[in-house]
Amino acid sequence: MRLNVIWPVLILLAGAFSLLYLWFTLFPGRVAPETWQYFSAGQVELGRQYNKMLRLVFIGGFFSQAVFLLWLVFTGRAAALSRWSEQAAGGNYTASLLLFFLALWLALLVLELPFNFFSSYVWQHQWGFSTQSLASWCSDYVRSAGLRLVLGAAGVVILFQVMGRWPGTWWLAGAVLFSAWLVIESYLWPVLVAPLFNRFEPAADPAVVSMVQELSQKAGLPVDQVLVMDASRRTNRANAYFAGLGGTRRIVLYDTLLRDYPPDQVRAVVAHEMAHWSQGHIVRGLALGALGSFALWGLLFLTLRSTVPLVLGRYPPGAWAVILLFFLLVSFAGTPLQNYFSRGMEREADRVAVMLTGDVEGAVRLQQDLAAKNLSDVAPAPFIRWFSYSHPPAVSRIEQILQAGAQACR
Ligand SMILES: [Zn+2]
Repeated sequence: MRLNVIWPVLILLAGAFSLLYLWFTLFPGRVAPETWQYFSAGQVELGRQYNKMLRLVFIGGFFSQAVFLLWLVFTGRAAALSRWSEQAAGGNYTASLLLFFLALWLALLVLELPFNFFSSYVWQHQWGFSTQSLASWCSDYVRSAGLRLVLGAAGVVILFQVMGRWPGTWWLAGAVLFSAWLVIESYLWPVLVAPLFNRFEPAADPAVVSMVQELSQKAGLPVDQVLVMDASRRTNRANAYFAGLGGTRRIVLYDTLLRDYPPDQVRAVVAHEMAHWSQGHIVRGLALGALGSFALWGLLFLTLRSTVPLVLGRYPPGAWAVILLFFLLVSFAGTPLQNYFSRGMEREADRVAVMLTGDVEGAVRLQQDLAAKNLSDVAPAPFIRWFSYSHPPAVSRIEQILQAGAQACR
């Protein structure tokens, strides 16, 4: 593989971010004084302990995948594996692609499994979050790995065919397909795939249904269904979300939310989710995703063209390893940008939700309870917050809710 300026830049950026991430995970620094207004020393300490390990596992998982793929690509192993899969497939291009894809999928699965198992099973049990049996965790893992295998294999075959047919413009097709995938994922996933993992039933409590209807009228958003999801099968964490399009528009409440939170806080959660919807955040998120996708695929096109030579007008199967490495590094280095946009939308949703309910106290208590029950790190180091927080930390959210409330009263 030839070297190109993009690789050193990506590797340096991802390397610097991961070192900073590791440093500030180990040494988070002092707790901002305003934290103590809303959280006890015990809560701050527990949140830090719980999250420290998760961050170490996250950065360990990223590091091991990145090092493995760098080694594969830059020592010629990927090229050798590529030649082997071409020989084994007996000259059938599609079969050689699938063979290479399968080998890499397996290797990455083995590499990722211990990190995934620890953070989503062992650690969650240790802290009393997970209610899942080992058998149920394994069955989830197999189903989602199977889904990734099938979708990934189809994606690779289509991608390489398109790359061969339109050598100068395939990246545009990739960006369009990827954008279409984002739309499918956000509108159809909750309707088609989520039921594979959970059961959804119409809310039985008339008080909950009328609360949702009251808010939906105020927000001017018709909701067709209020569904309760059996999240307690796996976790004690609480959440809610809006999903669907047109006739399938629905709000989904975790049963854990209804079980563990008082009505005024459930109302604050629903209002926050509705605010996302009413402010067009889902569409804005998709538009940003599509924009990012064009930039990403354009960059991938330039990177591949200048670093992987074509063979008989086609990319060899080994290019898949280069593509994966590219996406791994870019998505890691691009995390802060993505979270920057996400935090902006979360702030807006918090503000609009308070206008909708008129209940500042309920919204503040919700932030305190959510942080305490989920063991959020309420005093992250500024770098960690900038890099990995998709929502502003609890203290910033509370202060912003108080501000919005004060403005509404004036
Ligand atoms: Zn939100």
